Amino acid sequence: MIQSVLPVYNTFGLTFLRGEGAYLFDEHGKHYVDFACGYGVNSLGHCHPHVVTALKEQADKVWHISNMFHHPERERLADRLTSASFADTIFFTNSGVEAWELGLKMTRKYFSAQGKPEKYRMICISEAFHGRTMGAISAAPRSYMIDGFGPLLDGFDIVPFNDIAALEKAITPATAAIHIETVQGEGGIRPHSQAYIDAMVALSQKHDLLIFLDEVQCGMGRTGKLFAYEHFGFTPDLLCTAKGIGAGFPLGALFATERVAKHMVAGTHGSTYGGNPLAMAVGNAVLDVMLADGFFADVERRAQHLAEGLQNLAAQFPKLYAVHRGLGMMQGVQCQPDIPVRKLIEVMHGEGVISIPAGNNTVRILPPLIISEKEIDEGITAMHHASQKFMETLS
Ligand SMILES: *Cc1c(COP(=O)(O)O)cnc(C)c1O
Repeated sequence: MIQSVLPVYNTFGLTFLRGEGAYLFDEHGKHYVDFACGYGVNSLGHCHPHVVTALKEQADKVWHISNMFHHPERERLADRLTSASFADTIFFTNSGVEAWELGLKMTRKYFSAQGKPEKYRMICISEAFHGRTMGAISAAPRSYMIDGFGPLLDGFDIVPFNDIAALEKAITPATAAIHIETVQGEGGIRPHSQAYIDAMVALSQKHDLLIFLDEVQCGMGRTGKLFAYEHFGFTPDLLCTAKGIGAGFPLGALFATERVAKHMVAGTHGSTYGGNPLAMAVGNAVLDVMLADGFFADVERRAQHLAEGLQNLAAQFPKLYAVHRGLGMMQGVQCQPDIPVRKLIEVMHGEGVISIPAGNNTVRILPPLIISEKEIDEGITAMHHASQKFMETLS
């Protein structure tokens, strides 16, 4: 008999009842260092007091009003996010993929409004992940995600990761946009190279293409800056984000320049819940923490400590780990091809550290941005113990 919760997740055998800061507590009261945060969602750890207070206070005022009416928290959050980014305007959603879909729609609308509807195709990157709508699975197809769901949406040309020649070759008169995750998450925590980004920017200028970034996972402080594009010295036309922006409350956003967004007039898009007062109060509270003086300098310092710890781990167990890479609090350790990463991660869970798998046989490490050096050390020590235990099962 099928489970009452649709079993589309290959779940681990753990049940969590409570979280506090960088820790999760299971049903037996055992604590774990949370090196996963969902998938990089709990950017400020679990139950950050400032965010909890903002949510409770808003819950006593008003939960929902439609987007036909103004709410000061919505306008304040949009003002603060546009001031802190390349964007001139923002649309709030409940999830990453909803923001992603709007980015796709805006791309098409932009060229269509200029009398160029034939420019509708988006170049996407293999092993990327954009979510689970028909559009997003068409842009980032993997067999297990698309089998049986066809016909897929037309309009995506998929090129290998970080391959400048392939990108250039894929551009045709029908190309509207280049779409990348600034740092790939599901694909195995893979930052694009500076050379690739520079080439992408030059090609987009030469061929009149939009640049649309998916920063659902790598945005909102995850890499040690508010947005990952800030590491690379360029700005996009469109950007979708979610995960860290709500620190665990469902919230996403599509950021756009005025040039691209100006064709999205009343009636062209909408959302019942997007931008609701609860989410907006939480979003503002998250920004209070992230935009405080010195916050990101401190994140980058602790992230460096994390990266060094993971580097040492990889060096100490060369039979298990091939390479370590990442940016800020978005780190990955790629396992050797013959190592079953999920099994290794289960041993890590047993030792008291929550990590999750990513593509390319990678152990994915996405701690809360507020994690202390001491908590990082506790997590890394647990990973050492797990690696040692796992080695013993191999011999
Ligand atoms: C998680 C994720 C999404 C989808 O977000 P949802 O909130 O699950 O819809 C899209 N893109 C990237 C890069 C992601 O990591």
